[in-house]
Amino acid sequence: MADKDDGSKGSARPETKVVHLGRKPFEHHGFVNPPVYRGSTILYETLDALNSRTQPYTYGRRATPTTRALEEAITELEGGAATILTSSGLGAVSTALLAFVSAGDHILITDSAYQPGRTFADKMLKRLGVEITYYDPGIGAGVAELFRPNTRLILVESPGSQTFEMQDIPAIAAEAHKRDIWVLADNTWATPLYCKPLALGADVSIQAATKYIVGHADAMLGAVVANARAARLIDHAKEALGTCPGSEETYLGLRGLRTLDVRLERHQKSALAVAQWLANRAEVDRVLYPPLPSDPGHALWKRDFTGASGLFTAVLNPVSKKALAAFLDGLKLFGMGYSWGGYESLVVPFDPTSYRTATKWTGPGPALRFHVGLEAVEDLIRDLDDGFTRLKAASS
Ligand SMILES: *Cc1c(COP(=O)(O)O)cnc(C)c1O
Repeated sequence: MADKDDGSKGSARPETKVVHLGRKPFEHHGFVNPPVYRGSTILYETLDALNSRTQPYTYGRRATPTTRALEEAITELEGGAATILTSSGLGAVSTALLAFVSAGDHILITDSAYQPGRTFADKMLKRLGVEITYYDPGIGAGVAELFRPNTRLILVESPGSQTFEMQDIPAIAAEAHKRDIWVLADNTWATPLYCKPLALGADVSIQAATKYIVGHADAMLGAVVANARAARLIDHAKEALGTCPGSEETYLGLRGLRTLDVRLERHQKSALAVAQWLANRAEVDRVLYPPLPSDPGHALWKRDFTGASGLFTAVLNPVSKKALAAFLDGLKLFGMGYSWGGYESLVVPFDPTSYRTATKWTGPGPALRFHVGLEAVEDLIRDLDDGFTRLKAASS
């Protein structure tokens, strides 16, 4: 039977693609969604089939129809050649790095990279004989000055974790490719719907699918997408490391993907409203969110991205610990906790000075990272407004 979903590739719009990609209903009795294939052993009908290894599925760790559906969908959305799935976003970062480095290599990591990825580099890659230099995310083409004869890869993340610095990916990639240096981009914030790092010159795009692709705070999942040049290396890493996500988690990734476009639209609209409201508050020093025209990365965001997700930071003016606790503890709609990308609003304080090495972070007060969820924006603003009332009362 013809695969009606072939129409989802090529020129279809992204909102159409997220609905149709990776689906083959008529391979599954017409069911709209693929089943959750659970399995390790896959049987071969004959000795010939076992020896020739031409079956589409050979072992559970390698692939199932469920994992392949999600891989195909993400590959197409990112405009890549191949995708491997991992059991978490951090697993995607570490697997991607390991796919490229050897003992004696030098790698460049943006100072704004997701912090646990730095821990992997500092604690494990260093032990394996890899040299690491952290660089200022605003470096652009100046990254070439940091190249050494043994520089192997550059990790970019735009905008950066917690502090949202935009990076000039095309400028960095242009310098890197003059020297055959790989460029890996963590694209979690934008998702493949709002940024396509491979089109901007990166070789690999990394997704913490735990965030917006799963979208409901109910599973851990990662993806590494490679262009044709890098595809073989990420596949080798997957095979060698034995990385594979759980069946249920993979399914939840597929399910989340179907509503990604419509969810992001709301996250973006509400986040912009909350960010603008916060920027006008006397308690707030500045808001770090590239879609705001006042953001230092606004021009790059406008040039390279087609949208924004719901995550940003507000830096407060100095407040006492007690006043900050009064603000945070009493919030009713913003939960306090790590991760983001689910349907719910979140807030978490952070301090980049605890781990950054190439750039200097200046307060003046505490920094709060907000995830704006799918609640009504009026309710969210009221929750924050009540918070500032408590903060003021606790300050006096
Ligand atoms: C959360 C996050 C990760 C790690 O994802 P997990 O699924 O939590 O392991 C990696 N990169 C970025 C940018 C993230 O925000």
